[in-house]
Amino acid sequence: MPGAPGGSHHLQVLRYGDADARPKATLQAALHADEIPAMLVAWHLRTLLGELEAAGQIRGCIQLVPYANPLGLDQHLLGQHEGRFDLRDGVNFNRLHPDLSAAVMAQVAGRVGHDPERDVALVRAALREAAAALPATHPAQHLKNRLVQLAIDSDIVLDLHCDSEAAMHLYALTPQRALAEELGALLGAQAVLLAEDSGDSPFDEACSRPWNLLRQQHPGLPLACFSSTVELRGEADTSHELARRDALALVEFLRRRGLIAGTPAPLPQPLCEATPLAGSEPITAPRAGVVVFHHAPGSWLEAGSVVADLIDPETGELLPLRCHSAGRLYARIATRWATPGKRLAKIAGTSLARTGKLLSP
Ligand SMILES: [Zn+2]
Repeated sequence: MPGAPGGSHHLQVLRYGDADARPKATLQAALHADEIPAMLVAWHLRTLLGELEAAGQIRGCIQLVPYANPLGLDQHLLGQHEGRFDLRDGVNFNRLHPDLSAAVMAQVAGRVGHDPERDVALVRAALREAAAALPATHPAQHLKNRLVQLAIDSDIVLDLHCDSEAAMHLYALTPQRALAEELGALLGAQAVLLAEDSGDSPFDEACSRPWNLLRQQHPGLPLACFSSTVELRGEADTSHELARRDALALVEFLRRRGLIAGTPAPLPQPLCEATPLAGSEPITAPRAGVVVFHHAPGSWLEAGSVVADLIDPETGELLPLRCHSAGRLYARIATRWATPGKRLAKIAGTSLARTGKLLSP
């Protein structure tokens, strides 16, 4: 990808099965480049998929991008790795991915609505064409375009991330609840968060939302791409045991979708039901202070529970911060100093109905 003279980055794509075969799945790791558990899970996937390929067990095509953000891997500031935001302009690497909906709707207008199989092929071709024509004026845009070009005609897109300190959780489109809950059950997710549009076009929605929008105009069109952001716990959760278990769960999901030979094992008992992302409650610091959490990620909180104390070191005042909704505490920050307005923790509840941009910055 382009950069300053003398500097360059490249993206690695590993393919298992026939490149033109269907179904097609794309899995990518660490679009936020400092989310290392995702890269470790990709490393375990690489071993498992290599073994399955050698045994002739791959059906369809599986693409694995073991590190999705070479730009972010190369960013350090004052001794700290910064992989979430582009240091060039401060934009989050998982926002502002190209939205191809309008281009594809224009391209297929009047041509779909006859035969679902033919319609899906037509929409996929239009998505590929629109993705191929995307312009880029800076390296991060080039990277985002490239990732979308790789994944856009996939049946399955799994974008592997992690949160700061977190329980296993995932995000998906509301109409794909059943598949999201199936993936959640396999991974042992403690929150499955659904939205139609979480705001600012994260990568998973760049792949799946065009289908959802098209389907509103053409109700017979299948939702032919299931896409999910999988949050593989917290940024320090990098054990081989967890990563291998997660990789096996992802392989099992692909097997259930027909990408890997063999009879799927019975689905494990899910640890949660899906909840609306709009019902996820952020616990926000009203002022600066020392944060003392009362609960670990994965804890169930009743409405009104104290999530954390916020201590003002100047006045000595201790302010308990409570949640309004009951739900699962699925993520919290990894630092213990709050700045005013900082989101300290997130609770998967059902009683709130937030609007606007639903993801953390
Ligand atoms: Zn992330």
